[in-house]
Amino acid sequence: MQSQHFCLIFLLCAWRSLAGHASWEQPVDNSTMLHHDKRYFTVGIPGQGTANSIGENSQPWPNAKIRYCFADDEAETELNDHVISGMQLWYEHGLNENVFKMVKIGRTECMGDRANHLVVSYNGQGHLGSSVGKIVANPPDQPGPSMMLSTLDSVGMLDVRANVAHEIGHAWGLLHEHQRPNLWSAFNYFTGSSQYYDAFLFTCQNMRDYQAKLAEHGQGVMDNACKLRSAAEAIDFSAKEYLPILARGVFREPDFITSPDAVDWDSLMLYASGCGGAGVASPGNDQRAPVLQRRDGTALSPIVLKTQPSVMDVAALSALYAEAERSMSDMTLLMDPKHPKNSRFRDLFKSSSGRCL
Ligand SMILES: [Zn+2]
Repeated sequence: MQSQHFCLIFLLCAWRSLAGHASWEQPVDNSTMLHHDKRYFTVGIPGQGTANSIGENSQPWPNAKIRYCFADDEAETELNDHVISGMQLWYEHGLNENVFKMVKIGRTECMGDRANHLVVSYNGQGHLGSSVGKIVANPPDQPGPSMMLSTLDSVGMLDVRANVAHEIGHAWGLLHEHQRPNLWSAFNYFTGSSQYYDAFLFTCQNMRDYQAKLAEHGQGVMDNACKLRSAAEAIDFSAKEYLPILARGVFREPDFITSPDAVDWDSLMLYASGCGGAGVASPGNDQRAPVLQRRDGTALSPIVLKTQPSVMDVAALSALYAEAERSMSDMTLLMDPKHPKNSRFRDLFKSSSGRCL
């Protein structure tokens, strides 16, 4: 039966949704971004509790539509074309442009309803960051969904379009691939850690802000901050963008990872080795010290710079929004060709099927 096949694929897709967020990246706003319960791999589905959710504070955008504006005229001038181009990159790599929409609206309307709109700000210092999904504005603690962009090509992936697309991936609901806890066993986060694939060598001391934080906090604090994300977060140290996000039972991924095949090495949401590292870089000339390297047994190799979303990145978003849409509508009704949303539902399904495993 087609409907059974349909459900099975959905479940597989949902279970394989990936992570997706960078140390060149910085919190958009401390009150929004410093709480690690905002940062799991994909945002949750409304009404589905915590089994596969990061909670009610961060959700997919209703109807797969991000309504956004720029924070000021300078941001609009500097970033308008980059945001369009970054979203276009997702479309070029398979995200369904009939379904996923970023719609720019007027600033007055946008600011007048912060809870429901993304505000994009500009800086010239290379700071990048984004809320993950549609966070719930709860003034004064949370200002609403936000994105911070720079057009420097000496940070992140050394490619402005790719950097913007990475942040857009967060805005849609992806977290970092490398922050999936099942990919880390080095620090024995869970009992039976030998079952987990030890995917990375993480060289904390190579991070750009390591020496400054060491001078400020001392060795003991830094030893912890290099191992435990919450400790890094507590001192606003960029290791928080690398270390695994711990909350077992809330992830859309297999429990046990035993091979490098389980890692999406092509993900735009996976940091390249130089990302956040001390040293200078420009396109084609990355002199940054490696922070995160790929580990295969005893062999180490660099994680390369990315210029585009991966197949799995697109699959993860397609599955997330298909599931979100499904959860908000009756499945049987949606499967009915006469249902007004039937063709849209099939579009979502089409873009996620066959790409999940
Ligand atoms: Zn990121």
